Amino acid sequence: MTEYTDEARVRADDRAHVFHSWSAQALIDPMPIAGASGSYFWDYAGNRYLDFSSQLVNVNIGYQHPKLVAAIQEQAAKLCTVAPSFANDARSEAARLIAELAPGELNHVFFTNGGAEANENAVRMARLHTGRHKVLAAYRSYHGATAGAIALTGDPRRWPSEPGSPGIVRYWGPYPYRSAFHATDEAEECERALAHLRDIITFEGPKTVAAIVLETVVGTNGILVPPDGYLAGVREICDEYGIVMIADEVMAGFGRCGEWFAVDRWGVTPDLITFAKGVNSGYVPLGGVIISRAIAETFAHSPFPGGLTYSGHPLACASAVASINIFKEEGIVEHARAIGEDVIGPGLRALADRHPSVGEVRGLGVFWAVELVRDRSTRAPLVPYNAAGSDAKPMNEVMAACKAQGLWPFTHFNRVHVVPPCTISAEEVKEGLAALDQALEVADRYYVG
Ligand code: PLP
Repeated sequence: MTEYTDEARVRADDRAHVFHSWSAQALIDPMPIAGASGSYFWDYAGNRYLDFSSQLVNVNIGYQHPKLVAAIQEQAAKLCTVAPSFANDARSEAARLIAELAPGELNHVFFTNGGAEANENAVRMARLHTGRHKVLAAYRSYHGATAGAIALTGDPRRWPSEPGSPGIVRYWGPYPYRSAFHATDEAEECERALAHLRDIITFEGPKTVAAIVLETVVGTNGILVPPDGYLAGVREICDEYGIVMIADEVMAGFGRCGEWFAVDRWGVTPDLITFAKGVNSGYVPLGGVIISRAIAETFAHSPFPGGLTYSGHPLACASAVASINIFKEEGIVEHARAIGEDVIGPGLRALADRHPSVGEVRGLGVFWAVELVRDRSTRAPLVPYNAAGSDAKPMNEVMAACKAQGLWPFTHFNRVHVVPPCTISAEEVKEGLAALDQALEVADRYYVG
């Protein structure tokens, strides 16, 4: 086997043979990563980065947690793989632990390899359970890149895949800072967003709608925290019309929002919850659907027409069991909530006071967005929606300023997302915010308000 000890070799083979996601292959130069620990990763030259992105917002437990690594090693030595048709101890325990954490009577888990497959299967369950076809999905959402999940997605990543799959109907969710409903406060936004959803259902025909899909807290598309009452209102609409409520918690779940599941914050029980990422921090690929008693019963005597060779993979399930237990032992969910309330939130609001380019700061737990503008009064974004090339220059400069100081940010359009591991310490948050403080001076230079 080739010894990959030097960066040049890694880079050369990557460029020659690896086909990267979401990228023009000739225009990228992926950074070779040599290692990672806790909240940091580093390159071959020893440059260390504080990870405010948790990779793709999935490393909730931090890098290389020794107990999680050991649990995977132990399972690998015991049994690496077994088909989904058998029962397996790691899978049984993972399903039980997840069902115990889930709200209400969500007692069964269908395991997948990631978030997109979870959403694919949730929609299939909802359609078969209701005997209806249409699915309502929000603008400003991301649900994955497989055929069905990308069709649900309400952002530009969907455009090249269109016309996509039939039966997806689009709606606007709440976003008080840029309200689609011209609302002036959160309560009005909530009321109008629910009235809009109800109108759409009326005109689509309630008996044709199988499901409403939403990200409990919208992730990549802006960390949009729903106003109090919104999720309860969606639940009520679903109950009224016999529509399945699917909460996509692929990004928002497992500690990210300072709760096991983001819905817990509002005490709402969906019919299906999809998860991935934080369930085991991506140490081994895993996702799934948590299923209500009523929907599980639909498939009690007629088969569910779906499956995956690696559904409930023992290595992935053992890592989920270990991760959930570590979260409990170390109080990671509570830590994520407290660090958001006590350190990240106040720290970001202080940055907003100092930098005119910060239009809004919003979030909870370790799930925050800093929305950058050119003018606070018009809320004109720092870069246009879906900016690319020279249009994206100001954001690229902000990103470069972060990286130059050893901070790895997550940026999307005109926003910097502060989404570190749930285990990040107060000192690390402060270190990252100090770097962000410097980087925002770059954004301020574009301010014209
Ligand atoms: N749903 C949400 C809310 C996500 O953020 C993502 C990924 O970022 C997905 C689904 C897709 O998950 P995966 O990339 O594991 O298929």
